Amino acid sequence: MRSPLVARVRGAGPTGALAALALASVGWEVELDDPLPPEQLLARGRAYALSHSSRLLLSELQLWNPLAADLVPFRFLQLCDLELAERVPFDGSDLGRAAQGLQGGEAVGWVLQHRPLMELLLERLKADPAIRLNLGNPQAIVPDATPVDLIVAADGSASPSRTALGIGQWRLPYHQACLSVQVRLRGSAADQAWELFRAEGPFAVLPLGGDHHQLVWSAPAGRLRLLESLDPAAFLDSLAGALPDRFQVDALLDAPRAFPVALELARGFQRGNTVLVGETMHRCHPVGGQGLNLCWRDVRVLRRQAERVARGRLGLAAIGRAYAIRRWGDVLLTLLITDLMVRLFSNRQPLPLGLRRLVLALLRRLPPLRRLSLKAMSLGPCQLLSRWSE
Ligand SMILES: Cc1cc2nc3c(=O)[nH]c(=O)nc-3n(C[C@H](O)[C@H](O)[C@H](O)COP(=O)(O)OP(=O)(O)OC[C@H]3O[C@@H](n4cnc5c(N)ncnc54)[C@H](O)[C@@H]3O)c2cc1C
Repeated sequence: MRSPLVARVRGAGPTGALAALALASVGWEVELDDPLPPEQLLARGRAYALSHSSRLLLSELQLWNPLAADLVPFRFLQLCDLELAERVPFDGSDLGRAAQGLQGGEAVGWVLQHRPLMELLLERLKADPAIRLNLGNPQAIVPDATPVDLIVAADGSASPSRTALGIGQWRLPYHQACLSVQVRLRGSAADQAWELFRAEGPFAVLPLGGDHHQLVWSAPAGRLRLLESLDPAAFLDSLAGALPDRFQVDALLDAPRAFPVALELARGFQRGNTVLVGETMHRCHPVGGQGLNLCWRDVRVLRRQAERVARGRLGLAAIGRAYAIRRWGDVLLTLLITDLMVRLFSNRQPLPLGLRRLVLALLRRLPPLRRLSLKAMSLGPCQLLSRWSE
């Protein structure tokens, strides 16, 4: 084994923090930089829907079991078209052996709050002797202070690293934005998630344990800005108008927060000894909960290539290209699928309505098609081509 190989990871968000642990786990020494201090890295009020591809990476890094108490599994997922009054139910059995024998039964996915995730990642980062943390000290982040073997740019969608390298990006803003809020809600089981398609945009209802739920409400940006500024009682009224009658929201658990959504794709995934990961490389609409799972699939592929270098099976100079070649398909297809879903389901035009009726009827009547689509969303579309490795 060649050592020591040294990497600098820029950005300690969920992608960069996991990338640092992943590289250290295959024998690299890692420096992890972020201008934010730990308390600010922990402070985001959001929850992520995790898929089986994320479970695989977290298991490989021995993080899955320590997170078990904070992971809220959902065994059922209802896809509902509220315009057509049609629904397609999915459950863990649609994933076949991918989902079997897991804690929480045959889960379709899990919901995890940002804070416990980052608490565990920061604890592991601090405890790992191969990792040097440089957090909360912007002056100390000097990009090329000491030469390293690999730079991992994980500094988010506005990435200074990507800009400094001169890598442009394609950007397609949606007229929709997204509002996330946690609520107490009746009308849904604790192991049930919903993707509701409304003409103004998709609306996800994700379980957080008991009657607590995370709502991810997509709608025109102006409308969400207005909703964000309402007092809690007026916001609850608007929410009741947007949700089907079966749901009753009893209380808000945090302040609603709207954020812009866009499809973004870097024009290159690597340059020199720098590779892009996570939202530095791509960003998609939150429909189907793909965002962070796609970011973590970057990390999983990077870890494999870094391990090959550490074992002498891949030249150091080839790691960037080897990584980029393996990421194009998954990233492009995931961005394309989420974009198509938003366009197809967020309108009332006769042609898309007819197409939706057909797609939903096929999904309901053809279990193999249902299995295929759920696996594509859960493992990544490219994994359908290769054999499931578990
Ligand atoms: C407001 C908002 C709400 C969201 N809500 C949800 C949600 O409810 N559910 C969900 O699944 N997804 C949500 N997302 C998307 C989700 O947060 C992203 O998929 C995820 O954060 C991507 O992680 P990342 O580590 O790639 O990037 P980021 O989380 O953006 O991390 C980038 C890191 O880089 C650091 N950085 C910046 N500049 C530098 C520099 N020069 N050097 C070093 N480090 C630097 C930043 O401080 C930051 O810590 C939301 C996104 C936003 C913006």
